[in-house]
This record gives sequence, C-alpha cells and structure tokens, in this order.
Amino acid sequence: MNDTRSKTSVIPKVAYVLAGIFYGAGYLLMRYVAFPSDPQSVNWPEGGKILLSLLAPVIAVVFILLIGYIYGDAKRRLMRAWLWMLLAIFIPNAIGIILYFLMRDPLPFYCSKCGASVKSAYTFCPNCAASLRPTCSQCGRGIERGWAHCPHCGTAASGENRATPQAGSPPAQPL
Ligand SMILES: [Zn+2]
Ligand SMILES: [Zn+2]
Repeated sequence: MNDTRSKTSVIPKVAYVLAGIFYGAGYLLMRYVAFPSDPQSVNWPEGGKILLSLLAPVIAVVFILLIGYIYGDAKRRLMRAWLWMLLAIFIPNAIGIILYFLMRDPLPFYCSKCGASVKSAYTFCPNCAASLRPTCSQCGRGIERGWAHCPHCGTAASGENRATPQAGSPPAQPL
C-alpha cells in the first residue's frame, strides 16, 4: 500500500501560514517601529533599512518551518510530536533541535497487508498481526535478512529468510 503522506510536505500547512504572518509582522515592526525609534540608524540610507527589514524576519521563517518540520517528521516516525516540538522551541541555543535530529527514530514501515504505520523494530503488525520480517523457525522472534543464525536462540536461519524481501518497505524520503 502506498503512503500518500510521503508525497506531500512533512511540514504542516499551519507552519507555512504562521511563517508568513511572522514574516509580515517582522518586516512591519522593523521598518515602522524599530528603525524610526532607533537614533543610531537615523542617517542610514532608506534602501538599507528596507533591505534589513526584508532580510531579518527570514530568521523567524526558517525557525518556524524547522519547528514545523520536526513536528511533522516526529509524527510520521510515530514519536511524541508535541513533546519534541516544545523541546525544540524552548531548549535554548537550538539544543532541542539538535537533540531531535540525533535521537529521532527510524522511519516506520507500512504493513503490506493493512497499510498501518509500524515501527521498524516490530516483527508483527500490531494492527493485523501480519509478519513484517523473517522470523526464527525455532523461537519465533524476528531476524534480519542476511543473518545466518537466529541471534536469540542460535538456530540456523532457513534459506528463504534471506531471500524474502521485507514486507512494507519504507517510502522514498525527501528530507
Ligand atoms: Zn497490518
Ligand atoms: Zn530463534
């Protein structure tokens, strides 16, 4: 089953709207509030003030879209999206953002039988119980392709384990 979310942006639409509002507000604040009340910039050329007013709010736009990306990305990775979004916003010096990219879970698989998102560590689909990866014939636990023996009980993996493609491969991911 194809996942339609991979074809649309990870960043929620509301983040684009917020970024637009903040950009407009930032420009107006710089141009009509900050510069007129700043005695040091009184003699600056008008064009320079306009340019700065246009460029400075870009920082806010990048920040908002980055937070939006973290929210959308955490959600598709079945992580706590709200928690990570708040950490990214409130931990200073972008440490929350860096932590997120260091600690994020791998992208989930999509069950080939029912299409549910399942964590890549799972062996069986929690929704329909379909087998998501080869399992050991002796102890029933999941094993990776290419492994000659079960890491849990040592039983030799059968040849078909290595040949069977994993059910539900992750979608191609734009960053
Ligand atoms: Zn399923
Ligand atoms: Zn085993």
